[in-house]
Amino acid sequence: MTRGDDTTWTRLGLGYHSNAGARGVLDELVRRNGVRLHVGESALNRPIEACRWRLGDPAESGLGAADEKRPGVSLRPQAGATAEPQPGPHLFLLSLIHPMEWIGREIHLALLGDLLGGRIAVPPGTIVTSLLDANPDGTARVEAALRAGRPSWNRGNARGVDLNRNFPTAFRTRPRWIDFWPMWRPGPGPASEPETRAVLEAAGDRPTLVLSLHSFGRWIFYPPSHSRAIDATVESHGEIAERALQDAPARGYRHRSLGRYAWWFRAYGTEIDAFLPSHSFLVELSWGGFGRWGLRRLLDPFFTFNPPDPSGEYERVGPTLRRIIEIGLGGGAT
Ligand SMILES: [Zn+2]
Repeated sequence: MTRGDDTTWTRLGLGYHSNAGARGVLDELVRRNGVRLHVGESALNRPIEACRWRLGDPAESGLGAADEKRPGVSLRPQAGATAEPQPGPHLFLLSLIHPMEWIGREIHLALLGDLLGGRIAVPPGTIVTSLLDANPDGTARVEAALRAGRPSWNRGNARGVDLNRNFPTAFRTRPRWIDFWPMWRPGPGPASEPETRAVLEAAGDRPTLVLSLHSFGRWIFYPPSHSRAIDATVESHGEIAERALQDAPARGYRHRSLGRYAWWFRAYGTEIDAFLPSHSFLVELSWGGFGRWGLRRLLDPFFTFNPPDPSGEYERVGPTLRRIIEIGLGGGAT
């Protein structure tokens, strides 16, 4: 394997952007009337950055250089401004809570391109906040392993905490007898991790709709994650998912509340529960790539979680996700 291409690994046959390559794509998108928000620092002091746009009325976006590094401020009318446009609905896109699940970042970038390109029917004045890399220490570790050609299991942040179990709603510490189990490392307390707090900071006050992009299994999950209850939350999320799948079917994708994934399954402290009563979906993208990357990569978890053709997966599920955004933000009348 050759090294040294810092922007994209496409020519190495990976088909995925590297960390720097993904940042480059995001930089291009931010130049289209977006702003950058500094929302925190990782456990190893890497900056965590979100980006934000107001769609539909770029000339009066109300976002400007003064808003850089001040999350939240751009959602409020500014003092002294006249005829300030009403804030529209707020879409929050999130990926790489689990740092190996790079298909989430590719789908995230494709959705941003479609949003900024006017290919998703959202109400004028819609605010889009994007947190492309919620776990930069994790993704740096994943990339280092990839470049070294070394199989590596990465699910947590630098302290080994699974951020997908660290959010404050329905948080639960893990009983000692389950210490061996690698899928539940919730951390010492609710929102104990700086990355978790950065996600909450980026989301601001009550986003209208949250999409957190993961891999794998082709599921569209929604709250509650910690119980099998079927309540009004489940019903309203289920209606959005059902309608989106009917209007724009994605072959193989199903929807369910995460707490009903399996009879034995509960997830405490997930990011989707944290945003209630907003609508929030955790999308398990693709069936990963087990056995599809060749023998040499058979036992590397990165290649188990990520399919060899991210653009093919976007062709499959992109229309459904675009429809969830349209319905969830109250635009795109049928
Ligand atoms: Zn995940």
